[in-house]
Amino acid sequence: MQDFIPVNEPLLAGNEKKYLNECIDTGWISSEGAFVKKFENQFAKRVGQEHGIAVCNGSVALDAAIVALGIGEGDEVIMPAFTIISCAAAIVRAGAKPVLVDSHPVTWNMDVNQIESKITPKTKAIMVVHIYGLPVDMIPVMDIAKKHGLKIIEDAAEAHGLTYNGIPCGNFGDISIFSFYPNKHVTTGEGGMIMTNDDQLAERCRSLRNLCFQPQQRFVHEELGWNFRMSNIQAAVGVAQLEKLDEFVVAKRKMGRRYTELLSEVDNIRLPLPKTAYAENIYWVYGIVLDPELPFDAKHVMQKLGAEKIGTRPFFWPMHEQPVFKKMGLFAGEEYPVASMLARRGFYVPSGLSLDNKKIEHVASKVKEVIQNK
Ligand SMILES: *Cc1c(COP(=O)(O)O)cnc(C)c1O
Repeated sequence: MQDFIPVNEPLLAGNEKKYLNECIDTGWISSEGAFVKKFENQFAKRVGQEHGIAVCNGSVALDAAIVALGIGEGDEVIMPAFTIISCAAAIVRAGAKPVLVDSHPVTWNMDVNQIESKITPKTKAIMVVHIYGLPVDMIPVMDIAKKHGLKIIEDAAEAHGLTYNGIPCGNFGDISIFSFYPNKHVTTGEGGMIMTNDDQLAERCRSLRNLCFQPQQRFVHEELGWNFRMSNIQAAVGVAQLEKLDEFVVAKRKMGRRYTELLSEVDNIRLPLPKTAYAENIYWVYGIVLDPELPFDAKHVMQKLGAEKIGTRPFFWPMHEQPVFKKMGLFAGEEYPVASMLARRGFYVPSGLSLDNKKIEHVASKVKEVIQNK
């Protein structure tokens, strides 16, 4: 009997144990330990940003980024409708207004052609989010940002090792963020990082991360910050993971290609694009979208696969359909049809770094069976 195949299982087979032992042997387990700086420096360098500020997850990295940019009451930030709640939550919590754009039906990323029509005198920034393994088309975004004097906030939480025209994702934002949740290509269990080239922004993020303690008078506060610090234990795992990132990307691409080979003969489904003119997919997850011709939705397929002991996840639920935002009176009457379609007809299958070929073949054959109704 086949065991349950979880949607994700991380691979911790490098120096993780060795570096964790170092933390325990030396007693350095808090955020003051040397692995934190090392992880910040190494990861920022890899992405090509001057500063890395490690935090306790990717969601709070967005909170700090928005506040550090001075975005608040009366400001607007343009962002995709199809993304994780963390993006809009950070904007709303800062007192600003998220302004949505729909997705591109093939890349699932924000449709950059819709950005400019959403700009108002209140717009302060564009938040780009690289979705599921392919990047946002950045050149048009950078042109628009420059033309209108807007900041770019880059959510690269799913984009470790991804490049756009050969430049690492995370490099494009005035401020960029990553997540190191276990389903990301680099994990620290829980963790995140903020990156920027701007010395002042970096200082501000470091202060916000650390309760806005002041160097001269530690317990006197001019501003409210948070405790968003990353521990040395998390960073130790991160340093070991980063050593493997190139291998991980190769492995993920191999998995993606294998799934595509196995599923390409199935009618009426859309698979992730292997590449675009500007990027090669890193398959953060392996998503499948059901065509309208199929008389069932993703929920149905996920239930059937669950009964076959195969873990899946639905695609994101779009921001304009979130009950929490409806209650706040946000996005009333707005429609983003591609995002709404993706939410109902998209799901992803197991693709963690611990998955072997046999399991991929098993998953693909079950997906085929369920979709072809056999
Ligand atoms: C995972 C993710 C986040 C949040 O990261 P956490 O570390 O889980 O808080 C933010 N944005 C995107 C696009 C993500 O995929």
